[in-house]
Amino acid sequence: MQRSTKIVATLGPASSDEEVLTRMAQAGIDVVRLNFSHGTADDHRARVELLRRVTHVTGRTIGIMADLQGPKIRVGKFEHGHVDLNPGDRFVLDVACTLGNQERVGLDYPDLIDDVEKGVVLLLDDGRIVLDVLEVAAQEVITQVRLGGRLSNNKGINRQGGGLTAPALTAKDRADIRTAADIGVDYVAVSFPKSGEDMQQARKLLVRAGSNALLIAKIERVEAVANLEDILAASDGIMVARGDLAVEVGDAAVPALQKKMIRLAREHNKFTITATQMMESMITSPVPTRAEVSDVANAVLDGTDAVMLSAETASGKYPVETVESMARICREAEKSTDVAIDKQFLDRLFTRIDQSIAMAALFAAVHLKVKAIAALTQSGSTALWMSRLNSGIPIYALTPEIRTRYKMSLYRNVFPLLMKQKHVDRDQLLWEAEQLLINQGVVAPGDLIVLTIGEPIGHTGGTNTLKIVKVGEHPAPPA
Ligand code: PGA
Ligand code: MN
Repeated sequence: MQRSTKIVATLGPASSDEEVLTRMAQAGIDVVRLNFSHGTADDHRARVELLRRVTHVTGRTIGIMADLQGPKIRVGKFEHGHVDLNPGDRFVLDVACTLGNQERVGLDYPDLIDDVEKGVVLLLDDGRIVLDVLEVAAQEVITQVRLGGRLSNNKGINRQGGGLTAPALTAKDRADIRTAADIGVDYVAVSFPKSGEDMQQARKLLVRAGSNALLIAKIERVEAVANLEDILAASDGIMVARGDLAVEVGDAAVPALQKKMIRLAREHNKFTITATQMMESMITSPVPTRAEVSDVANAVLDGTDAVMLSAETASGKYPVETVESMARICREAEKSTDVAIDKQFLDRLFTRIDQSIAMAALFAAVHLKVKAIAALTQSGSTALWMSRLNSGIPIYALTPEIRTRYKMSLYRNVFPLLMKQKHVDRDQLLWEAEQLLINQGVVAPGDLIVLTIGEPIGHTGGTNTLKIVKVGEHPAPPA
């Protein structure tokens, strides 16, 4: 059975070998994530070259995402790489400190001083260490350890409840946007945006760098949750970035937020990625825990477009097995009757002609119980709209645009295929689309297909025609 939910795999040392990456591709990754918090521009370039060889050999459509580091505030380095903090210890975050010790450590963001005051709670290393702010001086934040543990070099700092003012795009992010554009990535994820405006700024820089990659907002701040509608309007998709989000809003608030974000994104015709710790135990174990199986399956039932792997594939011991397990869990969850047909066709509001054709095609496809939908698309919008509602019918997105093919790799239930469009005759093109689906083993003579196309042929945003055919019923039109 085909899998509708897509898998994003973060690349790193554990997945930078051609043989391993090939096996990951065969196991089902749909998008790779380049984590710009680690590695140099050359590392990312080398991984992309490797990936392109792998996609060429395997024939799979695998998109590329650049994930910007964003203004993650971090402690500096320690003399011995780490310290062990105990509850009750006094510990100072000191702007002027260059090499940390048991009493103090440096900070990569001096403005933290202005963002905190006595009583604020700081969470370090994704909340593993908790500090209470006792006092703020000119150059230092003096704290008392509430929850101790080992603190090592460059661990992240969050403020409980949000409220850090660091700008969304750092100088490093701006440079990385240019690298990402240069590499030719399909998606760019922005870390810690607070508003739609942050996303607009990222879009401007991306366009200026010559890229039209799709833009993803990582929802991982209290402010982003409050401004979700604004952020959605300015983005192509969102990531439920549960790692930092849990630190900011409290871990127990995340599951309900995940459901809300996925629902809202779909209503706004945007796509979603559910991320972080999905198969965490598989970093060191060949099998997932029951809780992880449930977590992945629940994200599928929530309607996420994609589920993401982080350290599991970047630095874990079992990158291939993790992808295989995730794929298996997705396929099984998709069989559930909870992934039933969305009955909201009539509630959808739209004014565009192309969108109306997309909805009409979906409606007809569901009622006629067709085998497949074939959307001939330039920009991919038709496929995106159709995939925002569960129909249970696979959507084959046939495009002559190589970039569009890869951009659709994240959309749930959309299977991108490249189709040269030499002809400008509609009947000829639709016949060729039918042949392509037969050759792919998707349909057989006697099956029904719903096709959509725009006339005149080859114009973006022009889908205006819907045709329903029985496979093999018509002879080839004269070429
Ligand atoms: P990160 O983002 O892995 O880049 O921190 C995802 C998250 O916070 O969940
Ligand atoms: Mn994060």
